[in-house]
Amino acid sequence: MSDTHTVINPATAEPVTDVHLASAAEADAAIEAAHLAFRAWRDVAPGERAALLRRFAAVVDDHVEELAELEVRNAGHTWGNARWEAGNVRDCLNYYAGAPERMFGRQIPVAGGVDLTFYEPLGVVGIIVPWNFPMPIAGWGFAPALAAGNTVVLKPAELTPLTAIRLGELALEAGLPDHVLTVVPGKGSVVGERFVTHPLVRKVCFTGSTEVGKRIMAGCADQVKRVTLELGGKSANIVFADADIAAAAASAPSAVFDNAGQDCCARSRILVERSAYDEFVSLLEPVVTGMRVLDPADESSEMGPLISAGQQRTVQSYLDDVEIAFAGTAPHGDGFWVPPTVVATEDPSSRIWREEVFGPVVAVMPFDDEAHAVELANDTEYGLSGSIFTRDLGRGLRVARAVEAGNLSVNSHSSVRYWTPFGGYKQSGLGRELGPDAPLAFTEEKNVFIAH
Ligand code: NAD
Repeated sequence: MSDTHTVINPATAEPVTDVHLASAAEADAAIEAAHLAFRAWRDVAPGERAALLRRFAAVVDDHVEELAELEVRNAGHTWGNARWEAGNVRDCLNYYAGAPERMFGRQIPVAGGVDLTFYEPLGVVGIIVPWNFPMPIAGWGFAPALAAGNTVVLKPAELTPLTAIRLGELALEAGLPDHVLTVVPGKGSVVGERFVTHPLVRKVCFTGSTEVGKRIMAGCADQVKRVTLELGGKSANIVFADADIAAAAASAPSAVFDNAGQDCCARSRILVERSAYDEFVSLLEPVVTGMRVLDPADESSEMGPLISAGQQRTVQSYLDDVEIAFAGTAPHGDGFWVPPTVVATEDPSSRIWREEVFGPVVAVMPFDDEAHAVELANDTEYGLSGSIFTRDLGRGLRVARAVEAGNLSVNSHSSVRYWTPFGGYKQSGLGRELGPDAPLAFTEEKNVFIAH
């Protein structure tokens, strides 16, 4: 029986196209073909593998507009974001195209011979992608995995398969051999499960909810399968009274409402030192109410819809039991819209303060001093990112070191860079992606001793 998913434009609730969902047998066939392709791919000369990845990057570059247009329609992303996302895949491929010739092992002094280490590819890597950033998260997995000599099977989220499918085609167009990168659209419970249970998949890279991530980690334990998890977040944006309060207030909305808040790094808890609280909130309000929340088909849109009716309901459920301080606007009618919304709270046990909303909602809370700010920031099961605004650089560094999270920025909300490591503390994840070491996470380190 053929199973399909109707892709919906979340800005209009209109159908875009139907996508075939792979069965478990089709997933197995893709995994087995990727396993056969691995034998040849691992032996492609480093320079040649690098050249193929650069060619793939060039072909993606030629299709940035097309890929961006697909994401605007499929995921409701703004044009600016969607172009950045397609460009990010290109940049990631170019960056990791530098890796094949640089997979250096070591020569370690030993008695009676020579000791060498090698980084060997794992085999087939399964990448499971969520719907919030379909292109970048796919690229963060496949670019370093391919560079290290692995073959990849990639499952996009059910809701957002279109750009991944196109990237799979572009890989072939660029000359990557068949089955080196295979996109397998399908359900998590079918295709994703097979990545976890099929013994020929040697590593799973999962990005998504903490709940599903825990199940995947438990499933991988059965085969001691390698796993990288990038999960949820509830990141803090800490604003000290000595900061440039106007700059902090001007930048706080985009740090949480970008991608309609559907961002694991969203700074969805704003902590403001009590003496600057009123000033900060009064400067925040016009920025939030002035945001251009429009159908992203309009190039001037700064924020689009949520991905689905279900996500809209989930986000709305958080707003039903809180007092809203102020909110921006959103289109009426069809489409899955929630306006950017600010909630003031002094209750660190409240749901809005503790749970990941994954929508355009931010909670603001005052704090008394540095120790209190750090205590509140760390009072969460998550630890993905965070920001600190202060003119005191010593304090900026001290607090950045004290916050239990993988990615901090001082006086900015820097987004993820492909050339710096990214990942979470605590229940935000396991392992790191990106940065100079990412290809090594797709290898085994082998030690060889040769007697004189
Ligand atoms: P999700 O966990 O439901 O799904 C993510 C992916 O996992 C999808 O492709 C889905 O099909 C697949 N999946 C679902 N059940 C599965 C199973 N049993 N076995 C294997 N695969 C399965 O999450 P979502 O709703 O798509 O994404 C939103 C969540 O992802 C948020 O909680 C967000 O914080 C998190 N997220 C984290 C990061 C990060 O880098 N840390 C990035 C993006 C999203």
